[in-house]
Amino acid sequence: MNNKKPSLEDIVSLCKRRGFIYQGSEIYGGLAGTWDYGPLGVQLKRNITNLWWKTFVEDREDMYGVDASILMNQKVWQASGHTETFADPMIVCKECGQAYREDHLDYAKPCIKCGSKDSYGAARPFNMMFKTNVGPIENESSISYLRPETAQGIFTNYKNIVDNFYPDIPFGIAQIGKAFRNEISPRDFVFRSREFEQMEIEFFVHPDNWQEWFERWLELIRGFLAMLSIPSRSYHEVEVEEKERAHYSKRTVDFDFDYPHKSDELLGLAYRTDFDLTNIQKATGKSMEYRPKDNSRPFVPHVIEPSFGVERLIMAVLTSAYAEDEVGGEKRVFLRLPENIAPVKIAVFPLLKNKPELIEKAREVYKMLKKNVAVMPGLQSLGEVAWDDNGNIGKRYRRQDEIGTPKCVTIDFDTLENDTVTVRDRDTTKQARVKIDELITSLE
Ligand code: ATP
Repeated sequence: MNNKKPSLEDIVSLCKRRGFIYQGSEIYGGLAGTWDYGPLGVQLKRNITNLWWKTFVEDREDMYGVDASILMNQKVWQASGHTETFADPMIVCKECGQAYREDHLDYAKPCIKCGSKDSYGAARPFNMMFKTNVGPIENESSISYLRPETAQGIFTNYKNIVDNFYPDIPFGIAQIGKAFRNEISPRDFVFRSREFEQMEIEFFVHPDNWQEWFERWLELIRGFLAMLSIPSRSYHEVEVEEKERAHYSKRTVDFDFDYPHKSDELLGLAYRTDFDLTNIQKATGKSMEYRPKDNSRPFVPHVIEPSFGVERLIMAVLTSAYAEDEVGGEKRVFLRLPENIAPVKIAVFPLLKNKPELIEKAREVYKMLKKNVAVMPGLQSLGEVAWDDNGNIGKRYRRQDEIGTPKCVTIDFDTLENDTVTVRDRDTTKQARVKIDELITSLE
C-alpha cells in the first residue's frame, strides 16, 4: 500500500465525483468561497462534529453546550473589538481591481487577473465581517453582522450558564456552528471559505491556573486528532509570536497540518485572558465575576479557547486517509477512514441484480444490518449501511473503497445454499466467508 500524499486536485476531484463536496451555486456559475456538502460529505461532517460533541461535551462533567444565534446585537462586535480590528490588509491592482491579501501576495509576480506589473496599490485594512441590516429600516442602528466566530455566542451566554447551573470552576461552554468571513481571496478548496463551521470551547479557569489548563488542552486536542487518525507527524504545533497573535491573546499555539497545498493552520488554542468577559462588563455594566463556592474572593475567570474549523479538519482527515495501491494489476484509490467517522460503515451487495432470490436474501441481510448497526458498540448512530447493486462487483468495491467504507458484504449463490456471506475488508481487500448468524458479532 502506498501512503501517497495526495495533491489538492486528487482531493477535490474525489470529493466531487463521489458526492462529498460540490462548489456552491455551481449550476449558476458558482459563488466564490462557498461549498455544498453532498450525501457522503454531510455524513462525514456530522460524524466528525458528533464525535467532537461526544468527546468534549457529553463525556465530560465540566462542559455545557449552547447553540447561539448567528445574528447578534452589533454591540457584541464593538465590545469584542471586531468592528475595529477584524481586518486583513488588502492590496488592489490599480489596473483591474483584483484584490489580494497583502500577506499572501508575491509583489514580484504580475497580477493574476490582468498580468500587469508594478500595479499594486497601497495596503488598506479590509474588515471581513459580512454586514447586514436587521428589520425593514436600513440605518446605523439596524446594522448587524453574520458572526465571524462562534466564540462571542458563548461569552454572551456565560452569565446565563453561571446563573442557571452554578458550575464548579474550571468549566467550559461549547458550541458548534456556522461562521462567516468575507475572505479577500478564498482558496485551496474548503480550506479558506467565506462560510464555514467552527467547533469552539471557552474554558473558564482561575487566572492562576491558565498555564496548567493550556497544557491540558494541548493534550486533549492531540487526543482528538488521534481519534480522527490524523497522524502526529502530519501536524506541527506552532507557538504564535506576539505580533502575529489576535488582539485578545496572550499565548496561542496553532496546529499546522501538512495540507496538499502547504502546511497551514488546522486549528488553534488561544489564551484569551479575561479580555472578553471584562469587555462585556464594561459595555453592559453587568458583573461577570464568578463567586467561588468556598466563599473565597470573586474573580473574572480567564479563558482557554480551543478553536476547531470543521472544513479544515475534513481536509486533514481526507488527506490523511487518502491511499493508493494496486489490486489485480489496476491502480486503486481508497480512503482509510477510521470506522468511527466513515460515512458508510457497511455496504451490502447482491451478486447479481436480476436474480430475485439473491435480491430477496440480500434485502434480509441489509435490513438486519441496518437495524443492528445503530446498536453496535463504537458505531452508534454514526453512519449507515448502504445498498449497492450497480455495476459489477469489482466496480462496487472500487466505489466503496473510494468513499472509505470499511466492510462490504456480498450475497451470492452460496448464500442461498448455506447461509454464509462474503465479508471483504477495505484495507487488505481480503475476503472471508461468515455465517449470517455470526455476521453482527464478526463486524463488531
Ligand atoms: P487564517 O490565519 O488561516 O485566516 P485565523 O487565524 O484567522 O485563520 P481563527 O480566527 O483562529 O483563524 O479561527 C479559528 C479556526 O477557524 C481556524 O483554526 C480554522 O480552522 C477555522 N477558520 C478560520 N477561517 C476560516 C476560513 N476562512 N475557512 C475555513 N475555516 C476557517
